[in-house]
Amino acid sequence: MDRTNAEDALKNLFIQITSAHLKPDFSQLGIKAALHEIMDLAASIVENVHETQEEDRVECKSGCSYCCYNQIKLTPAEALLIFSWIDTAFTDQDRTLLGERIQNNRLLTEGKSLETRVRVKKSSPCIFLQQEKCSIYPVRPLICRSWTSYSHEACVDAFQSGNHNSEIETSSSSNFVYYLARETVRTVCRYHGVDSTPLELPRAMDCCLTNKEPFTRWLGGEHLFDRLPACRNMEDSTFSFMDIQVPAFLDRFSLSYQQDGSCIEYFLYSREKEREISTELILSYSSHSKSLNVSKFYPELYRETIHKYMSAACLFLIIHHAASVFGIHRDSFIFLETRNQVFEAFYSRLKNFDFLIHHDRTADNCNVRGIYHVLPVETSMITAAEPRAEMTAF
Ligand code: SF4
Ligand code: SF4
Repeated sequence: MDRTNAEDALKNLFIQITSAHLKPDFSQLGIKAALHEIMDLAASIVENVHETQEEDRVECKSGCSYCCYNQIKLTPAEALLIFSWIDTAFTDQDRTLLGERIQNNRLLTEGKSLETRVRVKKSSPCIFLQQEKCSIYPVRPLICRSWTSYSHEACVDAFQSGNHNSEIETSSSSNFVYYLARETVRTVCRYHGVDSTPLELPRAMDCCLTNKEPFTRWLGGEHLFDRLPACRNMEDSTFSFMDIQVPAFLDRFSLSYQQDGSCIEYFLYSREKEREISTELILSYSSHSKSLNVSKFYPELYRETIHKYMSAACLFLIIHHAASVFGIHRDSFIFLETRNQVFEAFYSRLKNFDFLIHHDRTADNCNVRGIYHVLPVETSMITAAEPRAEMTAF
């Protein structure tokens, strides 16, 4: 079975499981049962693959926790599963410790750059790490379950050096299976009209613990995690970053566009140079999958002086502009293919989109999938370009 067929088959299996639990009643019990079954199934598939194909390669073991010093993200459904579990399993002392951990983590990481977060890594373990073990192990998030390493030494090196770009060889089957499990959870939540936006773990737990009946309110379609200023989610924090970068970009550059059916080409103009500096900006829309595809994004801004964050601001603006032209909805996908180096240096660091690699990397390239977050972004300054002879071929 090739990878696409395997992906479809596994997705269908996960969807069948969730439907069996949720069709009669979209309830707390149904969601918790579906999550547990998906987690168990994913674990048994991965274990099976490791036994048959990758025997002895994974070096993870109980008590090894260098990976538990990363800031992790999870879906609201997973956060609420954890919340329900700690509600019965945690002692008062555990809860007090958890509250302190959340506050400490927020003080050290909230609103801080990735570089700063990496520097404080050693002093901000995961809020659930106790004596180098996970205190919520039976309900730990899908992303934690997906982590593996073929080299314990590489994990130690990455932790001690603070190099967040360290290459740690991991099990691709584990990444693949748990990624699909997580996407299924998000798809099902979206289908039922409840919030599925990924959240940072400490903020998500803060929201759960400081609100009455968070599960019920979330099930009722309330954007519980958006409403509380104390627990700003990823969308809020990305907006504040771009709130500064977009005006800086627009001071120096302007954008115009030309639409041809499902494609839009953008033209980037430098106010200082008084000329167009890039036409290699093309997005297309798939009405079938209701997703955006970044066909070309070479804004050439790295040639400009003081260019830091300008490419990010440019991408941010054209994605939001194209999304409004094509009527893209919250949580739709944005696809792009790029070189590995560019992914590491640029896309993986973007704070505005939740970019994930969704296929194995080839030697040079990786396919990337982002999630579109609806933000109140003004794009009316991107005006229609004078008609040109024809759209740049791509
Ligand atoms: S991923 Fe690395 S740090 Fe985490 S358990 Fe495995 S070997 Fe240890
Ligand atoms: S939730 Fe558990 S497994 Fe995940 S990072 Fe925290 S301590 Fe580690």
